[in-house]
Amino acid sequence: MIKKILVTGGAGFIGSTLVESLLKDKHDLTIIDNFDAFYPKAVKENNIKGFINHPSIRFIEGDIQSPVLMEQLAALDFDVIVHLAAKAGVRPSIADPLGYQDVNVKGTQNLLELARRKKIVQFVFASSSSVYGVNKNIPWSEDDHVLQPISPYASTKVSGELLGHAYSHLFGTRFLALRFFTVYGPRQRPDLAIHKFSSAIMNGQPIDVFGDGSTRRDYTYVDDIITGINGAIHYDQTMYEVVNLGNNKMISLSEMIQVLEEVWEKKAIINRMPEQPGDVPVTCAAVEKAKRLFGYEAKTGFREGILKFKNWIDKR
Ligand code: NAD
Repeated sequence: MIKKILVTGGAGFIGSTLVESLLKDKHDLTIIDNFDAFYPKAVKENNIKGFINHPSIRFIEGDIQSPVLMEQLAALDFDVIVHLAAKAGVRPSIADPLGYQDVNVKGTQNLLELARRKKIVQFVFASSSSVYGVNKNIPWSEDDHVLQPISPYASTKVSGELLGHAYSHLFGTRFLALRFFTVYGPRQRPDLAIHKFSSAIMNGQPIDVFGDGSTRRDYTYVDDIITGINGAIHYDQTMYEVVNLGNNKMISLSEMIQVLEEVWEKKAIINRMPEQPGDVPVTCAAVEKAKRLFGYEAKTGFREGILKFKNWIDKR
C-alpha cells in the first residue's frame, strides 16, 4: 500500500538510504533536513542529488526545532513519521549536551506533537544501542529495562523513547523505537570509525585508536537497518515497542582495523590513544524480537559490507 511518509534527517547517511528504498516502493515522501553542520553540507547534498527532483518527493530544508516548520508540516497529510533527524555522535555530545538535548529531545517532542495534532498513528523513532550503556548482560535484550547511558547523546535517545511511551499511552500514537547498532556502509557519516579509518589508511595517514583495540562493536550494514525500518513502517500489532536492529556479532576494534587493512591492501599506521569517556566497551544486540515482529534478519557479513563500502568510496 502506498503511504504518505515524513522522513526527518532524510539527507543524512541512513535517511537518504531509506528514502531511496521507499521510492522504489512508490511511497509519497516529504523529507526534512537542516543540513546540520556536524559534517559538510556538500556531503549531504551529494546523498540526495539522485532523488531530490523526483516527483514523489517534497524536500523541505528546515529545523525540527522550528515552530514555523511544524506549522508548515501541519498543513500536510502523513500516514507515517520516520524520525531520524538528530545530533548524532557520542563524543561531540559531551562538549555540547544542551545542543543535543534541544534537537534530540525537544525536536522529537515537536514531531510527537505534530503526530498528536494530525492524528498520525505510526511513529518510527531512531534510537540507539548506546541507551544500554555499560550494561553487562550481553547480548543486550529489549526486556532488560535497566538502561545505563554514559553520554549525553545516549541519554537523549532514552528520553526520546520515554516521550514516545507517554504519547503512545495518552494519544494513541503507535511508537516504535528502533535501537540501531553501529551502522556502516555507503554514505556512512565521515566521523564514524570505519569511514575515518578507511580515508586515513587510503591516504597513508595515521589513525587514532582509542584503548588497546579490545573494545567490541556489533556492526550492522545499512541495508539491513533499512529492512528493519521498513518492517516498523508496516507493523500494526501493538502500540509501543522498543526493538534492537543489530547483527548479534561482536567485532573487536583490532579485528575491524585488520579487515580494513586487508580490503584496502594497505597497513594502518596506528596512533594509540587513551580510552575515551562516553565510549562503551562492548555492544551486542539480541535480535530475536526484531525477527519476531518484523521478520528482520541481518544478512550482510562484516567483510562483505566493508567491500561494498569500499566499492562506494572507489566510485566516488
Ligand atoms: P546523519 O547525521 O548522517 O543524519 C542525521 C540527519 O539529521 C543529518 O542529515 C542532519 O543534517 C539532520 N539533522 C540534524 N539536526 C537536525 C535538525 N535540528 N533539524 C532537521 N534535521 C536535522 O546520521 P545517521 O548516522 O544517518 O543517523 C540517523 C539517525 O540514526 C540519528 O537519529 C542517529 O542518532 C541514529 N543512529 C545512528 C547510528 C549509526 O551508527 N549511524 C547508530 C544509532 C543511532
